[in-house]
Formats: sequence, C-alpha cells, structure tokens
Amino acid sequence: MNFRKHFFINLTILLILWFLLTDITFSMIFIALFWGVLIPDADHKFKRHRYFLFHSITFPLLAFIFEPSTLLALMIFSQSLHLLCDIRFNRSKMIGFYTIKITKHRGLNGINSTIFLISNFIIGLTILTVWVWFYV
Ligand SMILES: [Zn+2]
Repeated sequence: MNFRKHFFINLTILLILWFLLTDITFSMIFIALFWGVLIPDADHKFKRHRYFLFHSITFPLLAFIFEPSTLLALMIFSQSLHLLCDIRFNRSKMIGFYTIKITKHRGLNGINSTIFLISNFIIGLTILTVWVWFYV
C-alpha cells in the first residue's frame, strides 16, 4: 500500500480515537500518525523492503515495556494498523516484495508473512485496548 493510503487510513482511525477519548491530545495523534505511516516503510532505504524489525511493532513495544504511556500505546497501534493494511488478501500476490525479510536472502513465505502481520496487529490492538481500559 502506498504512503497516501496509509496516511488516510491511519488518520481516519486516529481521529476517531481522538474524538472518543478525551485524554488523547492532538500532538499525540500527530506523532503516532507519522510514526505509523513512515517508520515501517523506512526500510526501503536499506533496499530490503519489509524487513522484520521495521514491519513489526518491535521498537515501540520495547519502549512501551520500559516506559508505558498513552503516546507509545498509540504509536504501537498506529504502526500495527500499517501492518494490517500491508496484507494482500489475494494470497497468490503475497510474494516477493510483499513478504517479510529476515536476512538478505531469507524471509517468511506468503502465508507466514500474513500470519506475522496479523499477529502484530492483534498485539497492537490488545495493548491499546488494555491501556485505554485500565489507565486512561
Ligand atoms: Zn509497509
């Protein structure tokens, strides 16, 4: 999915959250939006698209484990939303460029990439839900 589609999908869902939850500020939405849209696809610059560390919630999740906050929960969720949108539902097209890479020549196959992306989304959604439910 391209930048513009990621941007509008993440913006729509984050704005809905902003309207629903009074403790979420606009600056949090702004940071989470750009994190979720830009960071996963930053791996383009290393010529290894869909590298597993970028196309997963690893970095904000590590930060969240050490210092939990609403902003980090939103960043995790925004990034996981990007990952959900990166899935191709036509399974025969989930190949090559679209699969998750681990080393330069090795990576996950189509179905495992889909499972990897979906499980990241479920973890991201769970973290945000639990955090909002208990702490916001
Ligand atoms: Zn992506």
